[in-house]
Amino acid sequence: MPKQENGQREDSLIQSDLGESLEEEVGAFLGDEEKLHLFDDLTKVNPVTTRTVLKCLQARYRVNLFYTNAGCSLVALNPFQPFSCLYSPELMREYHVALCPQDLKPHIFAVAEQTYRNVQKQMEPVNQSIIVSGESGAGKTWTSRCLMKFYASVAASALSPKGNETVERIEKRVLDSNPVMEAFGNACTLRNNNSSRFGKYIQLQLDRFHHLTGASIQTFLLEKTRVAYQAPSERNFHIFYQITKGATAEERLEWNLPEGAEYRWLPNSERNLDEDCFEVTRGAMFHLGIGRATQSNIFKVLSGLLHLGNVQFSNPVDESQPCGLEDKTKDFAKTTGDLLQIPVEELLESLRIRTITAGKQQQVFKKPCSRAECETRRDCLAKVIYARLFEWLVLVINENIYTDPSVWTSFIGLLDVYGFEAFPENNLEQLCINYANEKLQQHFVAHYLKAQQEEYAAEGLQWSFINYQDNQNCLDLIEGNPLSIFSLLNEECRLNRPSNTDLFQTRIEKALSSNQCLSRDKFSKKPNFIISHYAGKVCYQLAAMVEKNKDAVPPELLHVLQNSKDPLLQKLFPVTEKNQNNTKTQNKAAVVTVVSKFKSSLEHLMEILGRTTPHYIRCIKPNADCKAMTFRREEVLSQLQACGIVEAISISAAGFPVRIPFQSFTERYELLRKSWGSSKKRVWDKSNSHPAEKEGEAAVMGDDRAPRAAVLEILQDAVRGQTPA
Ligand code: ATP
Ligand code: MG
Repeated sequence: MPKQENGQREDSLIQSDLGESLEEEVGAFLGDEEKLHLFDDLTKVNPVTTRTVLKCLQARYRVNLFYTNAGCSLVALNPFQPFSCLYSPELMREYHVALCPQDLKPHIFAVAEQTYRNVQKQMEPVNQSIIVSGESGAGKTWTSRCLMKFYASVAASALSPKGNETVERIEKRVLDSNPVMEAFGNACTLRNNNSSRFGKYIQLQLDRFHHLTGASIQTFLLEKTRVAYQAPSERNFHIFYQITKGATAEERLEWNLPEGAEYRWLPNSERNLDEDCFEVTRGAMFHLGIGRATQSNIFKVLSGLLHLGNVQFSNPVDESQPCGLEDKTKDFAKTTGDLLQIPVEELLESLRIRTITAGKQQQVFKKPCSRAECETRRDCLAKVIYARLFEWLVLVINENIYTDPSVWTSFIGLLDVYGFEAFPENNLEQLCINYANEKLQQHFVAHYLKAQQEEYAAEGLQWSFINYQDNQNCLDLIEGNPLSIFSLLNEECRLNRPSNTDLFQTRIEKALSSNQCLSRDKFSKKPNFIISHYAGKVCYQLAAMVEKNKDAVPPELLHVLQNSKDPLLQKLFPVTEKNQNNTKTQNKAAVVTVVSKFKSSLEHLMEILGRTTPHYIRCIKPNADCKAMTFRREEVLSQLQACGIVEAISISAAGFPVRIPFQSFTERYELLRKSWGSSKKRVWDKSNSHPAEKEGEAAVMGDDRAPRAAVLEILQDAVRGQTPA
């Protein structure tokens, strides 16, 4: 194992009641404390409790063992410190060429290799997915990146019709999608300097020789509000810092970004992060077919957004007048107009004046917006531009890495979505994120906890059922039909009435009171509801939730964007779009809400996942401060509890964690078979029915799975030395 590189560590500074009782409990069962780190598979721990598991993980962390098997999952502890030898090409190779990668030390490369071999063996379902989960900063994106590098290396084609160079380029392009997506979709938050503000599912496409031929990326729910609002001590998306720090003198002139200028939407820019490197993003964009001119266009529009953020409105002299502009911000408005190629008067009118169509004659009225409304419209303009730019980038990246379905025959999907979130104040974003996590947890429960136990029962194995938390109730509350939080939210949007959050709270409670996962924070003066998620309770504020769900863009804003002379904005806002400056159509369009869009994209994802063989990597953040080599028991404990890992280990431990296909089993234990002579041959001979079947026990395993009950009996015989006659 690698040597400790910095030597700095802190093993739980927090003393708690966990300490002593844990020592006793573990001491009694696990034996020698010194050897705790040797448990590289948590199914071997006895008894399996959250605490014993915790103790082992801590012992392993101490000696730089960050990966541990846990039945069907791999637990990955974040060291918060680079260990380059842990991800070296040599190590990738070692796992790739190993006879049995699972016999090597637990590692993400073992999971990756096993997954790859499943594809090669064409075991049904052939397509695979690796679901990487964990809370913010736990290491999901890091892990996904390493997995991509692994496949780009081990699944690289040796030959291609167009020669090596082209093949290398596709692998490089797939890897290059990472820095681009991270520059535009990641940001520094309180919990992670490089926090992904969107969910991502990437399918690595393999041809019939199992070589990487391309990829496709699906993204989920970008946190676009960050463009116009950053919580204290947090930052905007990395790309804004990259352009302001990395632009050349010439570009500064072109994009109007003088050195040292201050932008309201660019807080904490004095902090320099590794992620601020503009050159890496530019190089990667270039490899992905985004040329210099298009890049420059993108960065010019982004500079426009920074200037837009500095536009401040002042109260009008009287209500019939539009809002004024703060003196010092007039120049910013002008520069925004120049950079977005929109005449400044038109831009300001769209921000300050609302057009209302009313009456039978469809008369058009103009109504000045209040100062607060102007600010909302300004922010909305920035958000819609950024969100569409991000969508467009994903599209361009996909066009450049995607291969025709006739070329690829299977895929390995990597899922990196935001982990469960519970802040002091939570809103629609957290509701969607936590809903996604509920869906994934249900997938885990259905695929593993439920399916395993049902399989054991069907095989007639002696089995005492292990309880697990089924989250169907919670999902019914969020997304169920006909009544759920989502359906009620959508109904509010459809009726398009002025939002009254108190009334809405009452409506939710009345409609959903029978669901035990719903409650309310009665001590809070703000309208809210609490959902008891599998990972804990979260209180959601109702204020602005309906508006967020509508996500409506005022038609005047769309109109100015559609009339921009800027080539990029023309692509992002085609004139053919239906809701052009028409309030009526806009209201109808608003019915396609954020939650309904999110729900259907997630359902599509779950459908894909459901048709693949899943593998789980559970990333754990050992301390909230992202400190190197620091293991805080309470923090790890709550994450272990939240993801149901202990139940999964218990099932694996009590059951059969190792599954060997019948063919491999017979090959591997060939020796035993010979020494037993021919009398038991019928057991091994696939053409004969095996004893379990003869004795009337259920034996429903797949064709090539070892008939476990029978095999177990024979192995026990062998261990007892009862060589059959
Ligand atoms: P978010 O949900 O906020 O996107 P995440 O789970 O994707 O969080 P990462 O960005 O992958 O978290 O990891 C956070 C940081 O932890 C990384 O920037 C890196 O510094 C460190 N890190 C993660 N995994 C490892 C590892 N295996 N070795 C060394 N450092 C790591
Ligand atoms: Mg991430």
